[in-house]
Amino acid sequence: MKLANTIKCQKCGTAVPEDEVMMTEGKTLCEDCYFDMGHKIRVCDPWGERSKKIFRESHGLTGTEGLTDLQKGIYELIESQGKATRQQLQENFSLSATELENQIAILRHCQLIKGRREEDQVYLVLWE
Ligand SMILES: [Zn+2]
Repeated sequence: MKLANTIKCQKCGTAVPEDEVMMTEGKTLCEDCYFDMGHKIRVCDPWGERSKKIFRESHGLTGTEGLTDLQKGIYELIESQGKATRQQLQENFSLSATELENQIAILRHCQLIKGRREEDQVYLVLWE
């Protein structure tokens, strides 16, 4: 059995699976530290982060329903290309690294996209 690669959170030292690290201001952080630094997920707040998937299911939302246009755009770009880097998404949607990271976090909580490592790059790919 091969263990997933992990990266150390630069704040608390927790080993974070490589596809779950949050990046901000050039640091790699675990999700908890990321939020501790004040990077709250704003867009999806009414849904509550942990219950997002349940919310979506209970409201019969599937795929990109219930997302903002920006979240849909990110999802659709990844869908059309098969994968995308953070850099590509930032350029394409004119987002700061922090803004993009928030959107990625939301889409990941919704189980729509996830990170995947290929060679030396971490790509964002569709969840399924
Ligand atoms: Zn941490």
